[in-house]
Amino acid sequence: MPPQRITPRSENFSDWYNQLVIAAELADYAPVRGCMVVRPYGWALWENLQAALDKRFKATGHENAAFPLFIPMSFMEKEKEHVEGFSPELAVVTVGGGEKLEEPLVVRPTSETIIGHMYAKWIKSYRDLPVLINQWGNVVRWELRTKLFLRTLEFYWQEGHTAHATADEAQEETLRMLDIYADFAVNEAAVPVIQGRKSDSEKFSGAVNSYAIEAMMGDKKGLQAGTSHFLGQNFARAFDIQYLDWNNQLQHVWTTSWGLSTRFIGAIIMTHGDDQGLILPPKVAPIQIVIVPIFRNDDEKSKVMPVVEKIQAELTDFRVKVDDREEVTPGFKFNDWELKGVPLRIEIGPKDVSKGTVAMARRDVLGVEGRVFVPQDNLSSQVDETLTAIQSSLLGKAKAFHKENTHEPESYDEFKDIVSHGWAYTWWCGRPHCEQKVKEETKATTRCIPLEQPHGEGKCIYCGEPAVEKVYFARAY
Ligand SMILES: [Zn+2]
Repeated sequence: MPPQRITPRSENFSDWYNQLVIAAELADYAPVRGCMVVRPYGWALWENLQAALDKRFKATGHENAAFPLFIPMSFMEKEKEHVEGFSPELAVVTVGGGEKLEEPLVVRPTSETIIGHMYAKWIKSYRDLPVLINQWGNVVRWELRTKLFLRTLEFYWQEGHTAHATADEAQEETLRMLDIYADFAVNEAAVPVIQGRKSDSEKFSGAVNSYAIEAMMGDKKGLQAGTSHFLGQNFARAFDIQYLDWNNQLQHVWTTSWGLSTRFIGAIIMTHGDDQGLILPPKVAPIQIVIVPIFRNDDEKSKVMPVVEKIQAELTDFRVKVDDREEVTPGFKFNDWELKGVPLRIEIGPKDVSKGTVAMARRDVLGVEGRVFVPQDNLSSQVDETLTAIQSSLLGKAKAFHKENTHEPESYDEFKDIVSHGWAYTWWCGRPHCEQKVKEETKATTRCIPLEQPHGEGKCIYCGEPAVEKVYFARAY
């Protein structure tokens, strides 16, 4: 088995990404075009992301439940914008058990409709509110152009669906979940994000307002990494979700939905990876430390392995893997774990045994600079400090990159230049016409209208008319 070779990121970002996902054994192509198989290493990463999110959902009062994969076609048709938005992407089942079905069933592209149907049954009075439910599951959207993790026919995600007595409460929930996504992205995955509102053309089909966290990838393209929608009473009216209020009057509820998917794995790969492969943030890495024993013969092996075992036993607070394969060289192992992005490597050879040391090598700082010898005593606290340093260094680097590649254009000519290699932060009048023209002429779309806005007003970068909001424009995945 020769060492894996992938196209360097600096040479071709897209090839690098596609090859890396396969070579690092995160995912593979499925027999059905556009579908993916998530391999154990990729799934372990997803499980860590799930755990970090699930903890935050529960801490804010949400409960998990499971709704069916199949949705009656007529449900989809009840909310006009929703069905218009999703129709081109629906997978529909027309035969079941060898019989043509009376009503076709949609494989869920998202679950607002079926959950709305159930909420209508469960919610009777203001005492039943709020309803705060999340579902972990998979959905299907028949995409034409696919890329592993970023856009596949079937993907895994969580979708939160909440119902509230008032618009204010639902709006508050929408922004609370957006905050949770941002906190998760920054503090668990070291992915800096901008929180903002989507423009009308970019919002979720059926929402009053959509909000998103937007991240900058290593090729400076934007990636929508999580969304939270204020649905107003659109689904409550379509599904007749009503409650008796404090005055015994029937009212429609106000709903929200919010989701984050396996696409986020793509965000981690494209934010932190380098020419050598993945770099996983320690907090979410399936393996935080790989221990590589180094010996040339049985005599050395008999000295090294007991120390390896002793150290492994001391590091039980961390996710540790001992690579004791004997059919490959240590050099091969170093490359292999660098490709897979394990944050920290510990090497133990005969010299280390006699000196009471180990070599510790950081994945984010390759070469001699990132490799130090440390005493075996008190290794656990050394490791802890180093993992913390790696986590914070990754975030710092990603933040600096985001800043370096975001510019404020003075003119449309300058704007065109900026969005060819970065993000533009600029005034926009809010008219879909200007947004559309910018998209046609530069391929850049509005990423989001940041929640934090400067005071005053400016001139739309496209038409020069007065504008009251500043927006991020970028080419995006
Ligand atoms: Zn304009």
